[in-house]
Amino acid sequence: MKDEINVFEFLQQFPDEDACESYIVKKRWPTGISCPHCKNHNIYRLENQKRFKCGGCRKQFSCRTNSVLAESKVKLQKWMMAVWILTSHRKGISSVQLSKTLGVTQKTAWFLGHRIREAISQRRSLFDGVVEVDETFIGGKEKNKHASKKLRQGRGAVGKKPVVGIKNRNGQVKAAVIPDVKGSTLHCRIHGGVERGATVYTDEHLGYSGLSAFYNHEFVKHGAGEYVKGMASTNGIESFWSLLKRGYIGIYHKMSFKHLQKYVDEFCFRQNSREGVAIDVIGDVFFRSNNKRLTYKRLIHAS
Ligand SMILES: [Zn+2]
Repeated sequence: MKDEINVFEFLQQFPDEDACESYIVKKRWPTGISCPHCKNHNIYRLENQKRFKCGGCRKQFSCRTNSVLAESKVKLQKWMMAVWILTSHRKGISSVQLSKTLGVTQKTAWFLGHRIREAISQRRSLFDGVVEVDETFIGGKEKNKHASKKLRQGRGAVGKKPVVGIKNRNGQVKAAVIPDVKGSTLHCRIHGGVERGATVYTDEHLGYSGLSAFYNHEFVKHGAGEYVKGMASTNGIESFWSLLKRGYIGIYHKMSFKHLQKYVDEFCFRQNSREGVAIDVIGDVFFRSNNKRLTYKRLIHAS
């Protein structure tokens, strides 16, 4: 169970901009500040400007430079709070709600949310051991249906985007928006996400046939009402789909297809850090924000 913090503790730990700045500096540069321009470690503090100066290239920078915080006018404390809220609300938070909570415009809250998603976008690593693989469709008008009814409603619903997910037995999930659920597409994602020789559980979808050439592949026949066969089941990844869909329906109402992968990454990040201490999870987001930039222009025009 995650070790949560409350608002009072949060404000005690991050009472002002200075506290937030030193926390972000520590998380971004855990082995000591290095110049974002030339990597030099000979750094001076320009105290009255809250900036740093590099003894090598002589350029100035701040704790925001060369990260998703770059060029943001939003106070660090609001950034910290946005990160905390986004990583601790199981189903996420809408930009409307976030704007009310932080006292910023909805546009600012929306941009903040997307920059945080940019920071936490998935790292590539291969799962091994025993994994479950399943695909689902996100989008369309699902609001009138109960969550459990949405999991098995056909494989090619119009107006929906397919997403393939892989979950290991430690509960770690990675998921990707895919163009279709053809065998070649699914196989390509599985090869990119799972070590050869691992045990892969799926359902009976034909797109998964042929996996046994590379994996110990077992499947359950959902069509025949079979959900667990021996050790094989896909119940773990399906509970992740259920949470993603509840977030989609109850919180975001709509995730534009353009940004769908980032929302999926947001749910993966929370799933994968659910055992972590809340404060460490916030720190991890700032660590991951290194070398990641997202301008408003790029966000709007991203295809
Ligand atoms: Zn430098």
